[in-house]
Amino acid sequence: MASFKRKLQRSQKRLMTTSLVSHDRKGKTLIPPIMKIQKMQRVSWMDDRLPEWLWAELLLVGLGRAKAIAVMKKAVEFWYGKPKDQQPYDITHTGLASIPGEILREFLQKLCSDKASQQALQPLLLFCPELPGSAIWEEALQGTAEPEMGDILAKAVLEVIDHQSQTATDCRWLRVFYWMVIGKLHERRDFAETLFDYPYAGDMTTVRPRIRETEMQLDFGAKPDLSWPKTFWRICMERTDCIPVDLSDNDAVLKSHVTKQEVTELVEKLKMHWDQTVNDTDINPKRDTVFGIAFYCLSILEELVQSGNSTGILGRSGIRSLVECYITLAYLTKKDQSDLWQAYRQYGTGQAKLSLLKLTEKVDLETSSVSVKDLEMLANEDYWQEFLPIELGNWGASNLRKLSEEAGVKDVYDALYDWPSGYIHGHWGAVRDSVFVTCANPLHNFHRIPNNRRELNDVTADAVVLVSMVLDLLDGSYPGFTERLPAPSAVESDKAK
Ligand SMILES: [Zn+2]
Repeated sequence: MASFKRKLQRSQKRLMTTSLVSHDRKGKTLIPPIMKIQKMQRVSWMDDRLPEWLWAELLLVGLGRAKAIAVMKKAVEFWYGKPKDQQPYDITHTGLASIPGEILREFLQKLCSDKASQQALQPLLLFCPELPGSAIWEEALQGTAEPEMGDILAKAVLEVIDHQSQTATDCRWLRVFYWMVIGKLHERRDFAETLFDYPYAGDMTTVRPRIRETEMQLDFGAKPDLSWPKTFWRICMERTDCIPVDLSDNDAVLKSHVTKQEVTELVEKLKMHWDQTVNDTDINPKRDTVFGIAFYCLSILEELVQSGNSTGILGRSGIRSLVECYITLAYLTKKDQSDLWQAYRQYGTGQAKLSLLKLTEKVDLETSSVSVKDLEMLANEDYWQEFLPIELGNWGASNLRKLSEEAGVKDVYDALYDWPSGYIHGHWGAVRDSVFVTCANPLHNFHRIPNNRRELNDVTADAVVLVSMVLDLLDGSYPGFTERLPAPSAVESDKAK
């Protein structure tokens, strides 16, 4: 259990996002605080805004930061004092293309009068004639698209993919600065001066986040035209190749630290303990359940270790079953009431009867995974099925979360129940994780590429811990069984010696 806690603490350190308790609960939905702001438009930096600042991104990469920012300041100065109907609403590619052609021509001629800037902007030719205002851009750039420009473009895009990167922040400063200079944004004097002197004034650890926050608010209530961003990504996809890579946490893919032989030997030792404990033929719901769940968990572990399932989708299903078994047994052993042991057994037998009746009365299907004969045997094993009620809810008239709380093992539930459950249900998160990898070409917007079947993290270490916890419960009820499989950390430290 301690290892689960350590993992949780590690993951919490990584997160810089809203905690669960800070979400608002509406019915069965948890709402993050930002979604409570009215008219908040979700605009993605990478999908929707990055392609609009291509010209600024290329200047930053091509000229170096200091010179590029100086060029940007001159570019903004061009619009100061111009009549309102000649000022673009934004100096994005779409915004610039929305103003009269002669004004855009004047702006671009001035921008490209500096030869270094004109050279840095050449990769824009790769997008002609689809680039907004392309004819006027081509006039100003005076060049032809060359294949090697794709590499420069990829470098520029890679530098701004993270919306908090320095290059992305510089582009976002350009937008805020333009809005302020043309009088669409009013800032306090000290921040306005910082924007004028950017990036040489103020403490950048506070200036940069404030710029990003201000820039994000400029989209408040707006419905941006996303035609160019969509065209940009489509052209990149059509004209450059995919680079499929597995971006998952590969270091966490551990290979199984126990062998099938070790698990089989443990099963044999548990059988011996059963033989020493059992000396009658009575129906004993507690004894059968405690030993039965332990053998069941060991069988799951054996299947995980022997068939390579531990790094696959079924490995997650295995963990989910082990968690449910552990919580159920922890609850039953803590309560230790004969009616609960009986309820657990009767519920399972009732499920056999329910499936039997459905298969024989309601459907006309041959199934390979369910045998009517087996179900008949199970439903009638303890007594005739006519005396067996069928429970349609959970066996304890409760649910697993509540059982885990009552058993004092909610941390195990929180750590390992929800995410592995997604693989059983075929939720999108599990589907995305299992059968897709990411394209690492920065010009492809990190789209997904099918890659059946991706190797997932090895579940064996968690499975061994869960099995050991189940055996601890067994030892508490039927003492004398102290055999365990080696814990993952013990194996690692042995190897280090
Ligand atoms: Zn791709």
